[in-house]
Order: sequence, then structure tokens, then C-alpha cells
Amino acid sequence: MYVYSDLQRDCCKLCRGGAECGSIGRSLTGAHIVYFHFGPQSGGQIIIQGGMHAREWVTSVLVTRQAFALADKKLPLGVFLIPMTNPDGVTLAQKGADAFPAIAQGLTAVNGGSRDFSLWKANARGVDINCNFDARWGSGAGNVRAPSSASCIGAYPESEPETAALARFTRKVRPLMTLSYHALGREVYYDFGQQGMAWERDRAIAKAVGNFLGYDVIDGDLGSAGGYKDWCVSELGIPALTVEIISGASSHPLDERDLEGEEKNLWLPLLLTELMKKNL
Ligand SMILES: [Zn+2]
Repeated sequence: MYVYSDLQRDCCKLCRGGAECGSIGRSLTGAHIVYFHFGPQSGGQIIIQGGMHAREWVTSVLVTRQAFALADKKLPLGVFLIPMTNPDGVTLAQKGADAFPAIAQGLTAVNGGSRDFSLWKANARGVDINCNFDARWGSGAGNVRAPSSASCIGAYPESEPETAALARFTRKVRPLMTLSYHALGREVYYDFGQQGMAWERDRAIAKAVGNFLGYDVIDGDLGSAGGYKDWCVSELGIPALTVEIISGASSHPLDERDLEGEEKNLWLPLLLTELMKKNL
């Protein structure tokens, strides 16, 4: 099981190898949300993030593997990798509420009294970070207001430190595009009501990614709201993809073995930098 301290260890390894490592901010309980950067510092940048939904922590493994794969590559554009956007949630899904003694009782109550958090998606306050961005906030299919293992929208957009950190970092970097890793289904989402040329541009990028990975590209927003992709599309006007890795034949909870067959994703940052460079 790939835990937060494994990410810290890999961060040190990558730093020693010359990668730029840093923190975009801290989680609710104070854990650094780590980033890596590869390629040119100036010019166009791309942001790739994983580990937003706690039970999908295998996406953190994948994004960290991307970092090792990129370490000795020459890139036409800069790439920021944020492997574990929701470190508290990941720890909760892996180790249960005992990992957070001060708030364990409240978390267990939110979890319906169960000590099994392996299907938990939210952060350590029971807010789903991917429902907490300022994009048709609160209007999503399945959104709830009370703290929950999934789908709780939070008190207001960016109420959660993890959401605020990622939004602040994204505003600062002003990326050409973003990509969010989730699991599962082997699908690519790009659509959030953008029109005309923007829709055509974003769909073409989604198609290129879908073709490369052998995933289906899904048109329409399917009632999505408050997600990072949604916010990047509607507020920043940039292409933003949600990529759901791992076949739908698998089921949660997932582990590293489910990444077998997902190796092509390691080279996706290279494809994206070449694609976006051409579009500049
Ligand atoms: Zn997810």
C-alpha cells in the first residue's frame, strides 16, 4: 500500500535526482500537498493531479511513477505533477480513523459508525474536494450538504484547504491545460458547457488522449458540478480533462495491482506537452 510517507520518501529521491519539489499548501490536518515540476520554468505549463478522491489513491502511485518516468526527459513545456491532492483522505481510506485520534470519533460517526474507510472519497472533514470548486457549485447530481464519505459540497466554494490550495496554485501557474486522475472506468471527460471553438479544441484533446490510452471519450457533463475540471473549464477557460483509469471490471477498493495494464499513462505527460506545444 502506497502511503503518505512513501510519497515523502519519493519526493526526497526525486529532489536528490534534481527534480524541483515543493508544496502547494497544506491539508486540513497540516500535511503538505506535494508537487513536482519538470521541464522549462517559463512558457506554457500543464498541471496533472491525482489522489483527490481518497479511495482512488492508486492514482497517486501512477502520478508519482510519471514523475520518475519524466525525470530524465527533455520536455517542450513545463509539467507540474501533484500526486496526492487529498493526503488526509488517502490516509483515512488506508488506515482508518485511528490515524487521526483527535477527530476519529466524528469521522466514524460520518462513516455511519463503521471503522472501514476503504471506500471513503472525501477529505478529513467529510467534504468531497471534487464538489467544492466554484463551478455550478451545489447543483451536481448526488450533491449533499451534510458531511459524508462522498459528494458533500462543503460550506461554500473553496471552503476546504485542499480545494483552496489547488485553486490558488492553478491561478498562479495559469496552465495551458489540466488533467485530473480518478478511477475507475477507462474514460476521458472534458465537457462542461463550453461552446464553439473551445468545445472543439477540448474535444480534440480529449480524443487524442482517449486514442492514446484506448479509453472512451464521454460527451456531456453528466450532471457534474463543483469539480476541478469543471472549474478549469468554466472559470479559467482552459481545456481540462478527467481521466478515469482502470477497467470498470475492477471494483473498489483498488490497490497497486489494478495499475497493471495502465502503463501507457506513464507517457501521457509527454504526449500532452507535445500536443499543447503544437497548439500554442
Ligand atoms: Zn474520483
